[in-house]
Amino acid sequence: MASGPLTPAEILEAARKRVPGMGIATVYRNLKLFLRSGLAREIALPGSSSRYELFNLEHHHHFQCRDCLQVYCLHGCPGGLHALTPEGFVLEEHEIVLYGRCAGCNLDYKM
Ligand SMILES: [Zn+2]
Ligand SMILES: [Zn+2]
Ligand SMILES: [Zn+2]
Repeated sequence: MASGPLTPAEILEAARKRVPGMGIATVYRNLKLFLRSGLAREIALPGSSSRYELFNLEHHHHFQCRDCLQVYCLHGCPGGLHALTPEGFVLEEHEIVLYGRCAGCNLDYKM
């Protein structure tokens, strides 16, 4: 399955496989440190809880499944956004989110 940014609860679940006694407070404390030092970034999608991923990933975008609400990393960027930017405007960054159904939720898709 494609990987994607994780919610704090998912990070805790993954971390507990290595550190069984870990609590959610430790996850939040580490996340805060990571965010402050620029090692992680927050992916805030409208209508869902914040997810986090490492900042050292290549520039990419996300796909959110409307059925399971899972967020997947997409590879690459369509680009061409400077062409959309009105004359005289300075484009500094962009967010592109694709919505639909993932392969697991797409009943028409035979895996
Ligand atoms: Zn899905
Ligand atoms: Zn991502
Ligand atoms: Zn992009």
